[in-house]
Amino acid sequence: MLLIRWMRTKAGRHLPLLCLLAGVLLGPIPELAAMDLTEGWEYRWGDSPFTADGIPTWTLDQEAEDWSAIGFPSNPPSRDGQTNVWFRTILPEGDWRDPVLYLFSVDLIVEIYLDGRKIYQYGDFDEAGQGRFEGWPWHMVSLPQDSGGELIYFRIYSDYMDIGLWGEVQVLERIDLLRNLVTGSIGRLVSSSLTLLIGLLSLLFALVQREQAVFGALALFALASGSTVLSGAQATLLLFDAPLFWDYLGAAGYFLLPVAMALLLQQWLRPAYGWLLGLIWRLNLAYLVGAISLSLLGFVSLAETYPVFDRLFLLSLLVLLLPALHSLSRGHRDQQLILGAYALMSLLLLLDMAVAHNLVSWGRVPLGWGSLGFALSVVAISMTHYTRMQHELLLLNTSLERQVQARTAELEQLASQDALTGLKNRRFLDEVLPRELALAQRQQSPLSLLVCDIDHFKRFNDCYGHAAGDAVLQRVAAHLQAVFRQTDLVCRYGGEEFVIVMPGAEMSDACRCAEAFRTAVTADRIQYEHQILEPVTLSVGIASWPEPVGESAQLLECADRALYRAKTNGRDRVECAD
Ligand code: GH3
Ligand code: MG
Ligand code: MG
Repeated sequence: MLLIRWMRTKAGRHLPLLCLLAGVLLGPIPELAAMDLTEGWEYRWGDSPFTADGIPTWTLDQEAEDWSAIGFPSNPPSRDGQTNVWFRTILPEGDWRDPVLYLFSVDLIVEIYLDGRKIYQYGDFDEAGQGRFEGWPWHMVSLPQDSGGELIYFRIYSDYMDIGLWGEVQVLERIDLLRNLVTGSIGRLVSSSLTLLIGLLSLLFALVQREQAVFGALALFALASGSTVLSGAQATLLLFDAPLFWDYLGAAGYFLLPVAMALLLQQWLRPAYGWLLGLIWRLNLAYLVGAISLSLLGFVSLAETYPVFDRLFLLSLLVLLLPALHSLSRGHRDQQLILGAYALMSLLLLLDMAVAHNLVSWGRVPLGWGSLGFALSVVAISMTHYTRMQHELLLLNTSLERQVQARTAELEQLASQDALTGLKNRRFLDEVLPRELALAQRQQSPLSLLVCDIDHFKRFNDCYGHAAGDAVLQRVAAHLQAVFRQTDLVCRYGGEEFVIVMPGAEMSDACRCAEAFRTAVTADRIQYEHQILEPVTLSVGIASWPEPVGESAQLLECADRALYRAKTNGRDRVECAD
């Protein structure tokens, strides 16, 4: 008894999780026995007067002839703007332990009477029998065990386009109802959680990625459809019993759908249809903000905002179809996938809308799977785009790296080369000479250094011009390369001065090479612009390590001194350091 009383309280709504657990632990769940209340319904327009004890007089005279038969307690004929109606039917007989009456939804507020007694109330009726919209939750009405065969009365108020009950009306065991609600919500809970997760991930991507607009629109779509689907999962009321909260969340998500859809298409199809898509999302966003804030402020009821929105949404869906078809005709595989998912989602939304407007008989539309399919296909495409982009970036990076390496090598080469003669330059010599000297010292092998200077070079410039002087320098460089080995370092030290480092060469080897070079140059009849230039003579100074120069650091100075001697001794000769 205590258990039953506890279960009738609000806290009892949290029972289903325990029940499911118990069901799993204790064995197979039995067949669910629910009785649909589809027969014997009657309606009566208007509102009943009440006795002094608060009993509606319409429930007292069961034989009154003012009641008319109706197939289902919703939208009776000849409404004519009326906002109050009563329904009644006979409760079915059954061997119940803890029976409840389950109503999928009520438009808009309701009081339920049994045997002249009010057994349930959702929303508040004022003196005039009117009240405010309180959300669209499902209802679980506790019934006495022995109520089978009795008349049950529904007092309804609605200023909404629909009036009456909506969806399923059943009598069943409380535990079965709770189990139904949980198992019936699993699909929506799973798909909305996945969609919301995708939405959050997209939001994260939108914050860190470069394609912010695409990921932003995707996040908006996934979050909008995720909230719409989640708010429609009946089990959410078991977790947080605030019907209006879920309805506002659902409305915001639902109204956001066309905004997100238009934004997404705008990202893909830009700049084609840009203005049209821009118009669609702005219009829908304006409606969303207006409708939600006006109903939060109490100027309109949230219920009233749906029918107008449905027209706007229908129009938006049809208009959005145009750009979507356009993208199909272009035949891109990604866009075809999107279009397929988009078409499926739109169809489900239209079906859902048709059910809401009683154009199609009531049924649960698997909106969740549609939105999840859409979001997943968008994610799949974004991911392939992303990986393709990463791959292309990688290729680009590798080729750039290769180009940079080649260019660096080229620059290094240029930095150590003399542009006129193609020989190494002074910078290179300054870098390499200390290393060569250190190596010679470590290996105890000789090393010779030659400094050559062209005699009276200024005269060539003066007589034949600067360009002829350049030609002489190039010829001399060619002789240097011909006479000296590859392993010798031949540099243009500056102006008409050249330095040659000969690793492993003793003074005598160096002298022989210098002589060969000097003779070759002098013997050369250098031609410049059809005239033969005067013979070129040059002076060479040589220093060697370890003999006669003990200190490697002074090698260049010694060679320079020897060169100076060659100059003063009459030029056109080779002089060795003492
Ligand atoms: P010496 O026998 O005493 O060496 O006399 P020189 O005229 O050869 O020596 P000096 O140092 O007085 O003159 C060198 C000249 O070389 C001066 C400069 O104009 C010229 N020169 C330096 N670099 C270049 C160059 O790249 N091209 C040309 N054409 N001339 C150059
Ligand atoms: Mg000189
Ligand atoms: Mg000179």
